Amino acid sequence: MKSYNSFEVEQQQVMEAAKLLNLDRPTVDLLLWPQREFKFTLPIRMDNGEVKIFHGYRIQHNFARGPAKGGIRFHPDETVDTIRALAGWMTWKTAVVDLPLGGGKGGIICDPKNMSDRELESLSRSYIRAVAQYVGIDKDIPAPDVYTNPQTMAWMMDEYETLMQRHQPGVLTDKPMQIGGTEGRRDATARGGVITVREACKILGVDPKGRYAIQGFGNAGQRAALLHQELLGGGKLIAACDSRGGVYSEGGLSPKELVTHKLKTGSVVGFPGANPIPRDSVLDLNVEVLYPAALENAINETNASKIKAKIVCELANGPTTPEADVILYNNGVHVIPDILASAGGVTVSYFEMVQDSYSYFWEEEIVHQRLDRKLTKAYHTVQEAVKEKKVHPRLAAMVVGVARVAEACKLRGWV
Ligand code: GLU
Repeated sequence: MKSYNSFEVEQQQVMEAAKLLNLDRPTVDLLLWPQREFKFTLPIRMDNGEVKIFHGYRIQHNFARGPAKGGIRFHPDETVDTIRALAGWMTWKTAVVDLPLGGGKGGIICDPKNMSDRELESLSRSYIRAVAQYVGIDKDIPAPDVYTNPQTMAWMMDEYETLMQRHQPGVLTDKPMQIGGTEGRRDATARGGVITVREACKILGVDPKGRYAIQGFGNAGQRAALLHQELLGGGKLIAACDSRGGVYSEGGLSPKELVTHKLKTGSVVGFPGANPIPRDSVLDLNVEVLYPAALENAINETNASKIKAKIVCELANGPTTPEADVILYNNGVHVIPDILASAGGVTVSYFEMVQDSYSYFWEEEIVHQRLDRKLTKAYHTVQEAVKEKKVHPRLAAMVVGVARVAEACKLRGWV
């Protein structure tokens, strides 16, 4: 398989959308690059007494529609270019769901699976000290991403408030409920994805109670396994995988028991009553809906033609390469692209910011209703662009997002 630079992939997507929109050169040049990038070293004293130097980034891609917004990732394979790509995708994601926000992303190159809680707390606090003057409710609002969670946000928020000497919970989102978090944030990414699947099933005449499979069983994958059945009134989960392997059952896996097994053992592998399968074969199964919920480039030119799913709902960021997009489109697979399918998380993050700003918190039902309205509308807006431009859904979603950001840049007089 060829190797991919996610930033080049993201830039290619921007250029394709810009061409369809006939954007002028300065606008394209502006949108191709992050507006601000921060890189810093973080010395951390590890549990064994030694000091280790970590490398961290915060990249703010675009501010035209509002403050930058996006997660912070802890991952050993992160590079400046993966963060640039992910920051850009946040700009397009917030624009597709029409939130008054820009896009950003952060990351620390580290291996959180081999670090203690004390080491992770120290790293989180040190990261926020490094970026404190560049983040804030009106500048840039981070959230969790791969291998970070509400506890990471709690440490970071506490450090930020201590530094600033003021109560400012809205500086980060997806915090624990007790300290300014919102109802409905933990399952929001998956819920948003399942809502778009519901709409796609209606349009395509696909049975939502059919078979589905999940590639990647972290927070989004686990929640999608549960919510698919809850929101669509049925469905059979026949396979799931994570970084250690996959499991399959013709008769269906119990999402609830599989999640319990994963939380207990750290993997789906060894789930009682299921057959072990290689991780990648989860992509080739005969299913109605496939949820890629792992990392970038999982669906590429080597495996795209084997995908038999009718609907691919991308809960991960950047799971499909440009070559694979074309293959899936030609094979009639209905892809719900990441910047739409995974936008539920940042949408409820935005609701959390709003609630924090007036210290009045909504009931769960209200959060769910407002999320549903946003995602349903965005799904149909993208479908209209598919029809109008006669392009695959990712390009259509990019056209919607890029057009909105370009318009904001123009109105501000930047280009
Ligand atoms: N990390 C999530 C994403 O990629 C959420 C970002 C946020 O809530 O700001 O969409």
